[in-house]
Amino acid sequence: MIGISYLTEAVSKKADLSEEQTREVLMAFFETIQQKLNENESINFKGCFLIKRKPEPFKGSKNCTKHQEELEKLSAENKGGGFGIFSEINKVIKHCADCKSKKEEIVKNTKFTDRLTIQPAKELWANKN
Ligand SMILES: [Zn+2]
Repeated sequence: MIGISYLTEAVSKKADLSEEQTREVLMAFFETIQQKLNENESINFKGCFLIKRKPEPFKGSKNCTKHQEELEKLSAENKGGGFGIFSEINKVIKHCADCKSKKEEIVKNTKFTDRLTIQPAKELWANKN
């Protein structure tokens, strides 16, 4: 495993900066990432990776009351019917303003855990130099 000392030395050489300057930049970089993650922002380092805070698992309905009831009714009437039974109602839900605002409210009220998910970009594995 490599640490800050190695990174500072390696980046300093690649960027042609002094180790002191490089260390300042790296620390400012990580401070910015830390700050943004604390504000629940995702960090998209294009071509490298995406870092996101893991949201707390959502419990409850993701649709308006009317459509939630319709979904539950449909589900109860078609036990073991597969996802095909929902295709019609899902088309309606897609255009329902109440369902849309419910989803926006869920996004707004999402709480986050202290865990992170890191998704590598495809390019990350392509540039092996
Ligand atoms: Zn709805």
